Amino acid sequence: NLSERLQRIASNVPPNVKVADIGSDHAYLPIYLVQKGVATAAVAGEVNEGPFRGADRHVRENGLADVISVRKGDGLAVIAPGEVDVITIAGMGGYNIREILEAGKDKLPGVSRLVLSPQGDSDRVRKWLQLHGWMIIDEDILTEDERIYEIIVAERGEMNITDEMELEFGPFNLARKHPKVVDRVEYEQGKIRRALAAIEKTPTENGLARKQELLARRAQLEEVR
Ligand code: SAM
Repeated sequence: NLSERLQRIASNVPPNVKVADIGSDHAYLPIYLVQKGVATAAVAGEVNEGPFRGADRHVRENGLADVISVRKGDGLAVIAPGEVDVITIAGMGGYNIREILEAGKDKLPGVSRLVLSPQGDSDRVRKWLQLHGWMIIDEDILTEDERIYEIIVAERGEMNITDEMELEFGPFNLARKHPKVVDRVEYEQGKIRRALAAIEKTPTENGLARKQELLARRAQLEEVR
């Protein structure tokens, strides 16, 4: 049974596409997408030997070796330009996802949708998308095993997010006042409260400048809540 997280990622893959799942681990996601008839074919990419073997075995056990190609390699290096319509990258940090997209830019022409699920640092992903001609069309956020995962769905297009809070928490999540985003904002506010208290307690040379920064961020956070 696919986890709630992977199911929500899968629900953002449109039907009748060829999909590449990068960092596929057990290949749960591409197997599910093919079995449900969403994907007509898939590539499962893995950079590490253990997960690569696991993915390969799992695909064969499910009798899907002719429709899911399991490939070993770094990021988008495993796909050819124009080979897939949709790319999913889930369960890694936002920095890593951005690096994979940046290093694999030449593989993106022909790809019409990205479904990205960063665990932390999602602002990095949003900034990269914005700079490279992608537009966020939907977002989601959920917790699994006490970790917060976001889902960012992007298609070709222009967007212009200048607001730092929107880059950090996501324009769709904020507009919906998603309860998990409210949790995240409160968590960030807690960090500021503690940092301000520490500055009051032990004044330092650059304490004043730091305090100003913290107060500015506190005001920004207060506005989105
Ligand atoms: N995508 C699955 C999910 O969301 O459940 C698996 C997530 S698992 C925590 C992250 C996987 O990404 C690991 O199996 C790791 O080997 C793989 N990975 C990390 N960096 C990668 C890269 N640059 N290229 C391909 N795979 C990568």
